[in-house]
Amino acid sequence: MLPSVDELLRTSAGRKYITSEGSAAATAAARSALAKLRDSMGDMPRENLERCDLITEAEAQLGSSLSARHLSQVRPVINATGVVIHTNLGRAPLSEEAKTAVRDVSGHCSLEYDLETGKRGHRGGRIDRLISELTGAEDALVVNNGAAAVFLVLTALAQNTEVVISRGELVEIGGDFRIPDVLTASGAILREVGTTNRTKLFDYERAINPNTGMILRVHPSNFRIIGFTAAPKREELAAFARQHNVVFYEDLGSGALIDMSTIGLADEPVVKPVVEAGVDLVSFSSDKLVGAAQAGIIVGGQQLIKRLRKHPLYRVLRPDKLTFAVLDATLQAYRRGEMFEKIPVLRQLAATPDSIAERISRLIQAVQPVRHLQLRIIDGFSTVGGGAAPAQEIPTKLITASRPDISATELERRFRLDSEIPVITRIEADKVMLDLRTVLVEDEERLIDAVRRVDR
Ligand SMILES: *Cc1c(COP(=O)(O)O)cnc(C)c1O
Repeated sequence: MLPSVDELLRTSAGRKYITSEGSAAATAAARSALAKLRDSMGDMPRENLERCDLITEAEAQLGSSLSARHLSQVRPVINATGVVIHTNLGRAPLSEEAKTAVRDVSGHCSLEYDLETGKRGHRGGRIDRLISELTGAEDALVVNNGAAAVFLVLTALAQNTEVVISRGELVEIGGDFRIPDVLTASGAILREVGTTNRTKLFDYERAINPNTGMILRVHPSNFRIIGFTAAPKREELAAFARQHNVVFYEDLGSGALIDMSTIGLADEPVVKPVVEAGVDLVSFSSDKLVGAAQAGIIVGGQQLIKRLRKHPLYRVLRPDKLTFAVLDATLQAYRRGEMFEKIPVLRQLAATPDSIAERISRLIQAVQPVRHLQLRIIDGFSTVGGGAAPAQEIPTKLITASRPDISATELERRFRLDSEIPVITRIEADKVMLDLRTVLVEDEERLIDAVRRVDR
């Protein structure tokens, strides 16, 4: 009684599957839909079975398998969570200039080609100079992400030597990136000193021995120890490392390129002063506070950077042309002093509650008249995300959305699944909250459309 695979593929669900995913995938999906149906038939009384019902059932199976497949793709979403650097949502949105740059280099480009001499050039040379300029470092090197930067520095410069690190900095960043594990994997020997909350210079002094290769400092990123704490000053540790002829390396995590205190983020270290304090090597991610694409940036002295560039592991970790294009366009905005206008992460962090309230009013106006939804504007908080400034709450205005006929959980689900583009919200106090701080201005029309759909 079951339809054949061919028969199922000729139905409208089958044809839709073929158009979207190709015939090999469609055939496999049709087989598996029919197998499922065959299994479930065992529980049905035979006299109730109708062939046309079975076809309808198989079509439905195939349809939901296609939607599941679509949902599992990486798709654009609207980030209404209020978490500016949301790792699950792709971290930093790119600037318009960066998007254009990606398009421009997506064909052939002069990635490793010197147009003046017509010979092979140095990959990323221009970016390295730009980064050096912005951070005051002698030289720079770009790898695939922040974790790769840490791994490269430890592998190339500290293998089989002891790396001294404070117990307060043996952190896990998220996505299973744990400093002690990375250290061990790189072949370095972990030498932890001090205590969780207090580490002093003499703790480092006591640990130094002929096999010490490096002093490592790690920004705690997504957590803070407050109260009875101590750590040596960066300058002190730098002088100490120099005196003992060991490399002083700091993993900054987010690594701001400019002073963020002007927009109320006092807590995030800026790369330039860290370099000036005498740290030999500094690394940070470029898709956190920098606001570019995923990459890890390492800056420091020429000799050390040269050793990293020559290490075979660098060849494994080097980024592609698209990353360099995004970095170039984004760093240019810093150089021109236009970062707060051009770079979405910075623009979002700098947005005032008043400007957000204005956008909310426009949105609520645009969706009128609503049938079921109750939309209100309230005071609330956004967060930086990406492991930066975890304790910092940024005052914002929020939309609370509710419907008397459905639960907040169901409403959240509809925002996510019923609109053309998934809208990711959060639930607080049993209400769905939307924070326009993290919604790109160019996505506002689509958000309005999503609100209308959820109102149906
Ligand atoms: C985020 C972070 C990393 C990892 O960087 P990715 O770019 O995510 O690979 C490493 N160290 C610290 C301190 C971080 O905050």
